[in-house]
Amino acid sequence: MIEQFVPSEVCLKCIGCCRFSEANSVWLPCLLDEEIQDLLDKKIPPVSISIDKKIQPIPNPRLVESAFICAFLDASANKCAIYDFRPLECQLYPFLIAIRDKKVLLTVDLNCPYIKDKMSSREFEEYVRYLTDFLNAPARIRLLRDNPHIIQAYKDALDVVELKMPDETK
Ligand code: SF4
Repeated sequence: MIEQFVPSEVCLKCIGCCRFSEANSVWLPCLLDEEIQDLLDKKIPPVSISIDKKIQPIPNPRLVESAFICAFLDASANKCAIYDFRPLECQLYPFLIAIRDKKVLLTVDLNCPYIKDKMSSREFEEYVRYLTDFLNAPARIRLLRDNPHIIQAYKDALDVVELKMPDETK
């Protein structure tokens, strides 16, 4: 599991994550092949995973927040039902792995209010260093090379640092 930047008590009070305005939102967590297998082994209904390897959202019972929510969000408790084995993309958020101009980048979603406040802090700098080292490790580069579908073009995310290209360890 990746160390988290945003403290869980902050996350639990926020109603930003895990909610989506569209059923095919680019922000839907994309799953590694091994995560799909793991979820299926844990008897997660296959219908919870879309054909393009993303979590399939469901209509939000609390429509005021957003039209859709992740199929694994317990909306009444505002908790992830698969938190202990949630996907890599969910562990990374509000950081994202993005592709822009043929470069693989660590980016950050400034819609997260906590990160917006901490952008110029030393804590942020240290965490970025930790995450960059984590993602540039050979095992992660191989993971990205085998799962290129999780590197997406997030238009509104802010570039933080360039990562090694997944084919650099071939
Ligand atoms: S899997 Fe969990 S953390 Fe990821 S979007 Fe769904 S509810 Fe949120």
